Amino acid sequence: MTYKIIEHEYDVVVVGAGGAGLRAALGCGQSGLKTACITKVFPTRSHTVAAQGGVAASLGNMSEDKWQWHMYDTVKGSDWLGDQDAIEYLVRNAPDAVYELEHWGVPFSRTEDGKIYQRPFGGMTKNFGEGPVQRTCAAADRTGHAMLHTLYGQSLKEDVEFFIEYFALDLIMDDGVCRGVTCWKLDDGTIHVFRAHLVILATGGYGRAYFSATSAHTCTGDGGGMVLRAGLPLQDLEFVQFHPTGIYGSGCLITEGARGEGGYLTNSAGERFMERYAPSAKDLASRDVVSRSMTMEIREGRGVGPDKDHIFLHLDHLPPDLLHKRLPGISESAKIFAGVDVTKEPIPVIPTVHYNMGGIPTNYHGEVVTLKDGNPDAVVPGLMAVGEAACVSVHGANRLGSNSLIDLVVFGRAAGKRAPELVKAGEPHKDIGKTAVEGHLARLDKFRTASGSTPTADLRLRMQRAMQEDAAVFRTGETLQQGVNRLAEIYTASSDIGIKDRGMIWNTDLLEALEYDNLIGQAVITVNSALNRQESRGAHAREDFPNRDDDKWMKHTLMWLDTKTGAVTADYRPVHTYTMTNDIAYIAPKARVY
Ligand SMILES: Cc1cc2nc3c(=O)[nH]c(=O)nc-3n(C[C@H](O)[C@H](O)[C@H](O)COP(=O)(O)OP(=O)(O)OC[C@H]3O[C@@H](n4cnc5c(N)ncnc54)[C@H](O)[C@@H]3O)c2cc1C
Repeated sequence: MTYKIIEHEYDVVVVGAGGAGLRAALGCGQSGLKTACITKVFPTRSHTVAAQGGVAASLGNMSEDKWQWHMYDTVKGSDWLGDQDAIEYLVRNAPDAVYELEHWGVPFSRTEDGKIYQRPFGGMTKNFGEGPVQRTCAAADRTGHAMLHTLYGQSLKEDVEFFIEYFALDLIMDDGVCRGVTCWKLDDGTIHVFRAHLVILATGGYGRAYFSATSAHTCTGDGGGMVLRAGLPLQDLEFVQFHPTGIYGSGCLITEGARGEGGYLTNSAGERFMERYAPSAKDLASRDVVSRSMTMEIREGRGVGPDKDHIFLHLDHLPPDLLHKRLPGISESAKIFAGVDVTKEPIPVIPTVHYNMGGIPTNYHGEVVTLKDGNPDAVVPGLMAVGEAACVSVHGANRLGSNSLIDLVVFGRAAGKRAPELVKAGEPHKDIGKTAVEGHLARLDKFRTASGSTPTADLRLRMQRAMQEDAAVFRTGETLQQGVNRLAEIYTASSDIGIKDRGMIWNTDLLEALEYDNLIGQAVITVNSALNRQESRGAHAREDFPNRDDDKWMKHTLMWLDTKTGAVTADYRPVHTYTMTNDIAYIAPKARVY
């Protein structure tokens, strides 16, 4: 079939209108670059809208705080896999990025004297490890919602042009340089070719590779899929965060802010078991630690409920007016999804897939990097990535709660600052012929006309089950090998995919197949990277290799996918063991206890 192609020319094209994409687009717009923002859902429906707890910055409004402490906590939270130059960049720019949001109109909750309200979150301490600090800036428990609406309004003001319900298919690559992106307009079936000097991927995580996840059904890792098809690697995908408190059954999130406000976990004996696992931070230890402790309690027969397969989260001791003021959203979620009145009963919870620490490797300007001719920091011209789709890497092996929203705005802003240094407004575009785009359309056509016997939903379910079972909170060589085999089989079985709708307008059958194709590549890399990494670090807990091994494994995994066969190739990038400035020294590894 010949597709109707509509061409566009922009200085910068941002793919994604979540917190990261909007902040990047806004910055590019501010600097006078002609900027397009492409999104498959309406901007304010991006997954960022669901972020509850808040955004971390060392404002020190409610207790003394310093960027150096935020840096220490983030490095320790990352289990020393984070790049310390990028972490310094994050924490030093965090307060400015939050004040900017405040001035643009984010309706933060307030202290008595009118400052931004801050709550304690897991793994956050004062004085380099000495007890909790109130660092998480919150707009009740709807912080992401507030940020997204504000950023969308501000980007419109900066003349960013939005292309809404456009599905980005593939990157236009020309001899290693990114020159644009091909899209399918969902509501009229036209194909759009966006030429750009810079493409910024801000497509979010790939949580939907798992069966039970807190992320929206739109979190299908489309940017990661495009990068793999462009022959570039993804970094550290073995590190998948399980949030301790997904509602049992639905996977819907109860924010860590619930424990920040005084909530605690109990087992079937009514014991506050976190006191045993993390004597000092208790329920506010970092997420990997709490999720593992809960899993141990359930395994040892101390889970709650008829099948002893979950844990209780108590808020029922907290004053109802506090719950109403600070946690109204989750009180409603608990009612709807667990039938629980949080003022009277505990919420049934279970560790649930929540966040991808890994992603598209970048430096702290947002530029995508790869290993090339022995250079582990080789920039891919014309391509940037920000937000959950990217791996800067500030979260390393485990992300601290409320450090993602700050990552979105700090690195979205960084990309917006870097763009005018790389691109001159109005520069003409190179003529690159049609070959690249023809490949993208051939792939689209292959799926659209696929006449196999397996529906996408079957393949997706098999993938999600395998990931849930074999790449879980605890892992062994055996379960991971099983995962590698199962996913290889599913990858091969995908050639029998069958699509029933041959149309181009609102073809959700085709859309889901394309999303599945993006997910499966990242699922394959996740299990292979996890099998390959023979140590335990952060969220990656190997029972057969229970210790962190800095001599062998303090390095980032890079993995490439041969999209024809599903075979992977691994290599590594060194962790940046240097800081950005001389204001703070490298924080050397030590045992990680809370
Ligand atoms: C329930 C929940 C609560 C959370 N709470 C917090 C919190 O309190 N604090 C915190 O720091 N973090 C929190 N997180 C994590 C954080 O919210 C996310 O990591 C972050 O919002 C991701 O933002 P993003 O901009 O990278 O991507 P997203 O917000 O996921 O946006 C992705 C964008 O890309 C677009 N897109 C994707 N694929 C395509 C395509 N093929 N074509 C066109 N457009 C595409 C989508 O339309 C969307 O606009 C939470 C996460 C969840 C799931």
